[in-house]
Amino acid sequence: MEQCAVTTAVPLAPRVRVILANPRGFCAGVRMAIDVVDQVLDVIDERPIYVFHEIVHNKHVVARLAGRGAVFVDDLDRVPEGKIVVFSAHGVSPQVREHARLRNLTAIDATCPLVTKVHSEAVRYARQGYQILLVGHRNHQEIVGTSGEAPEATQVVESPGDIAKLKIIDDSKLVYLTQTTLSTDDAGVIIDALKRAFPKIKSPPSEDICYATTNRQHAVRMIAPRCDAVVVVGSKNSSNSVRLTEIALNVGTPAILVDEVGELPDPLPWKGKEGAISVMLTAGASAPEDLVAAICRRFVERFGATLEQWDIVDEDVEFNLPATLKRMMTRKGIDPESRRIRVVKAPISSDTYGATALTVSAGKARA
Ligand code: SF4
Repeated sequence: MEQCAVTTAVPLAPRVRVILANPRGFCAGVRMAIDVVDQVLDVIDERPIYVFHEIVHNKHVVARLAGRGAVFVDDLDRVPEGKIVVFSAHGVSPQVREHARLRNLTAIDATCPLVTKVHSEAVRYARQGYQILLVGHRNHQEIVGTSGEAPEATQVVESPGDIAKLKIIDDSKLVYLTQTTLSTDDAGVIIDALKRAFPKIKSPPSEDICYATTNRQHAVRMIAPRCDAVVVVGSKNSSNSVRLTEIALNVGTPAILVDEVGELPDPLPWKGKEGAISVMLTAGASAPEDLVAAICRRFVERFGATLEQWDIVDEDVEFNLPATLKRMMTRKGIDPESRRIRVVKAPISSDTYGATALTVSAGKARA
């Protein structure tokens, strides 16, 4: 009988192992806000349409929509009277809504419903005579918008150091609210300090830091300690992307925030064990998946990387289109239900990512 020579291929240790975090990237609010601008551009013939502030904090998203005919303005006086203006995912104050009304603008509100929830809490507590301590970044558009709901009743707290400067009338009528995209660790430190200073302070009825922020941060805390480096995809003005980078650094793993594949360092500056480097790859809630895919391709093509995806939390949150846009569609004979945003998870294929990913479940939980 003829003997077969069997050769066992001994794979070389991968030089780079990329671990994609799931969840990463677009959240339901960002998906909805971008979709609103795309759908207005699809449904309305007039150009340009105006968007108040960046629709989400990502320069690639803004550039793509600008290419389609959206003009981003930071001042409503730049929008000609009677035109369409979309309010961004971060929300606006009642003063901005009134300004739009006085200029006879058609406002389409793409504010994330989870930001609107914090606005409603601010209105309700102010009506009940509470002073509101709003934990967040003073100049962030979301905090500017939420403060505007009850400006006389609201004081912003950026750090425990601000507590001594607060002007409190009655410490039994105090409530704290928070920005939706804070680091849960940082917010916890400030909230603990507020509770120590004002033991009777009321908490919001439900958590203000949103599910997407919490889940992306949780994935970093789970995966980053097991990696040699973390790459976060996102723009520098994206609060939740910056927080992901800080959390990775806080658990002791080197981390960088990159807006696109061209910002990936080459050669890679990180040290691994036995000639292999494990890199966690994640993305802020406003970063498109095609930027993540481009970085995967670079890792595969340039560094011979293998890809894995670790599922930490399953998300299936979807938000509806705003009522103003639905009415606009109906007037044009378009059924808004036929244009509903559906969350479709694209498979990781070798065409788009450079290699197919092996999914590893690590502490899976439902959002
Ligand atoms: S990060 Fe959270 S609050 Fe912000 S748009 Fe996304 S879901 Fe909404």
